[in-house]
Amino acid sequence: MGKTTKKRRGPHPSAKAELDVPVRVGQTVEVEITGLNHEGAGVGRIEGYTLFVTGALAQERVRARVEHVKKNFGFAKMVEVVEASTYRALPPCPLYDRCGGCSLQHLDYAEQLRHKQQIVRDNLRRIGGFQVEGEGAITVHPTLGMSDPWRYRNKAQVPIGEENGALVGGFYAEKSHSIIDMEACMIQHQANDDAVAVVKKLAAQLQIRAYDEQRHTGLLRHVVVKVGVKTGEVMVVLVTTEEEIPQRERLVEAIREQVAGVTSIVQNVNAERTNVIFGKKTVTLWGSDVIYDYIGPIKFAISARSFYQVNPAQTEVLYNKTLEYAGATGTETVIDAYCGIGTISLFLAQKSRHVYGVEIVPEAIADANRNAELNGVENVTFEAGPAEVVIPAWKEKGIRADVIVVDPPRKGCDEALLATILEMQPERVVYVSCNPSTLARDLKVLAERYEVREVQPVDMFPHTGHVESVALLVKDDIKN
Ligand code: SAH
Repeated sequence: MGKTTKKRRGPHPSAKAELDVPVRVGQTVEVEITGLNHEGAGVGRIEGYTLFVTGALAQERVRARVEHVKKNFGFAKMVEVVEASTYRALPPCPLYDRCGGCSLQHLDYAEQLRHKQQIVRDNLRRIGGFQVEGEGAITVHPTLGMSDPWRYRNKAQVPIGEENGALVGGFYAEKSHSIIDMEACMIQHQANDDAVAVVKKLAAQLQIRAYDEQRHTGLLRHVVVKVGVKTGEVMVVLVTTEEEIPQRERLVEAIREQVAGVTSIVQNVNAERTNVIFGKKTVTLWGSDVIYDYIGPIKFAISARSFYQVNPAQTEVLYNKTLEYAGATGTETVIDAYCGIGTISLFLAQKSRHVYGVEIVPEAIADANRNAELNGVENVTFEAGPAEVVIPAWKEKGIRADVIVVDPPRKGCDEALLATILEMQPERVVYVSCNPSTLARDLKVLAERYEVREVQPVDMFPHTGHVESVALLVKDDIKN
């Protein structure tokens, strides 16, 4: 236990009286870190009380300042490393401490991958009740990482503001509305950083006023840049409070001249007092409405508003694994639940008789149909609606699936969908998950009829705490 904690004189006067915990807000403690939580914060204990320490690593002793206390756990920010982990790395980003976009840059990359594998194992064991070690255990493979885990993001969304009369663009300072100017983001594609820098410079030169969130004045709110990593095509989106842009022609002309690879310049108008980035109206100022990119052999059209995976290189790794686990040979009927813009469906269609995709957002289904057409894929059917309603309706119509793939949002699958899967009994279920805890919860339900064969974590977001994985479930005939 740290020296400071022994000197504790009881709760701080401002602390809530009912919180009988051994630390108080503002106090600096010395603490031993035993592990990392799913958000990448170090986990330590003070007299049995759990403290999450941002910036600290397992096997470290650190000094940390307590920032927030709750009944069962508290949060602290690291002040100083007393004994460093051998896996501690120097974060290359100069703004790492202030940004909060990444949480693991201070951990060696190979160790990040081991950490993510361990998070999946821990969840399967704790929440799913699965065996993850020894005979009969589920195999959780080592995380598939990137050989170069930097500058992987294909989309930048940069808030624009004014600081001391100058136009700035970067990120919001923690718990505030002021914007910290940023020139380079180490996980952002270089083309995006370059394009953002050009637009910021031009806007300042042409005296385009930055948006002031507090007063709701000014014009330029966000600069959004997307790059097709395989095609090199760049889209610049200017999000403004009004349609009228002073010296618009000069601005567009200069962006065309100075942004390498630009094929699309788009304006989106958002006049609302909101922190939602996009408004309803989108106008193409120059070039195409969309840019194109490929994941494996499949071509995608990406508009200003459409959803697209942000790390296409690792998406290809994830989808190839999904395809492998689906075990499709060309004769199967496959259902892709939570299909988004049809990415997984189109991948699977290459090796299936027919793919049925379902997704709740109608615009995403429109994109999915367009993408199918773009690739000349005819053996897919997309339907908009909740998977837990549409799939039972398909079942009623007599559609039976050999394989069901699910890729739900963080909250996992709806119970009704899991029940339908258990009734439909496809030979295989492939579960793509961005949240190991709901993955474990749902696999436990499916384990009634399915054997969980293996789980493959894939690092989609290096240097952040996100853990993506794909699980293969095979119908367990003994249980039928
Ligand atoms: N498979 C896609 C998208 C996965 S993200 C891809 O790889 O690109 C999860 C998707 O589930 C989102 O597009 C979200 O809109 C959708 N969704 C959320 N709840 C849903 C529900 N109840 N039924 C169907 N889709 C849903």
